[in-house]
Amino acid sequence: MNQLDLKGRNGIVTGGARGIGLAIATRLLQSGARVCLWDRDAAALNEAKGKLAALGTVATVTVDLTDPAAVSTAAAATKAEFGSIHLLVNNAGIAGVNGKLWECTPEQWRVVIDTNLNAVFLVCRAVVPVMLEKQYGRIVNIASIAGKEGNPNAAHYSAAKAGVIALTKSLGKELAQNGILVNCITPAVIQTDILKQVAQYHIDYMLSKIPMGRFGKVDEAAALVAWLCSDDCSFTTGGVFDLSGGRATY
Ligand code: NDP
Repeated sequence: MNQLDLKGRNGIVTGGARGIGLAIATRLLQSGARVCLWDRDAAALNEAKGKLAALGTVATVTVDLTDPAAVSTAAAATKAEFGSIHLLVNNAGIAGVNGKLWECTPEQWRVVIDTNLNAVFLVCRAVVPVMLEKQYGRIVNIASIAGKEGNPNAAHYSAAKAGVIALTKSLGKELAQNGILVNCITPAVIQTDILKQVAQYHIDYMLSKIPMGRFGKVDEAAALVAWLCSDDCSFTTGGVFDLSGGRATY
């Protein structure tokens, strides 16, 4: 593992109780940052905090990211705890139910857009003003290769992630002169609990599209995110970073 220097930085990782978010939180802590995990599962948050405690300062907030008032309260609580917020990783997400677009119910569509896109808006809306106070920030959004290519049987997920890519590009430009850089990553499939929500035929499809012929690893996502959170990333904003084992060539 290459060492990055995030000492003195305070970060939020949404969906940090498990999977990619937990790996990102681990890497940020190993780099010297203080980390607040935001997730809706209080028991999983406690377990994650226990696993991470030896690495540094870990706080937790139980929050449903689709609830605007709860997100504002979470941001205020984290600011009160840490004093400032320098890093934000919008990682929480769900896969939704696989199927053709015309078989998807409005509720199935809505929950995926609310969780994977609208929540990113809500969290940025609550946290950016705190970053503006210090004229410093690194925001990293976890999008997906699905948002670039459009996966069949996952139109809701693909549309939400395409929205996250566009949000990243817009917000990056809005903050380009405020010391706050906004980038996103677009992973291909990684083995985490999210795959419990996904049909096996869809996992097989996603794996078959990867030239490296394997799943991505949570630590590979964490390494890229940690670099994007660091001062080594200084002239890139609104960027979309591939993490797809060769699937995306653009
Ligand atoms: P996991 O399911 O392992 O973890 C996601 C976490 O986010 C869970 O703890 C989940 O809680 C939480 N979460 C979901 N909805 C909310 C909400 N409304 N409020 C608060 N917390 C919430 O998923 P991954 O680690 O695999 O995924 C992380 C991100 O990476 C997601 O945005 C995903 O779309 C993206 N991604 C994942 C890929 C993969 O193949 N794994 C590939 C490309 C992108 P709960 O368990 O209760 O749902």
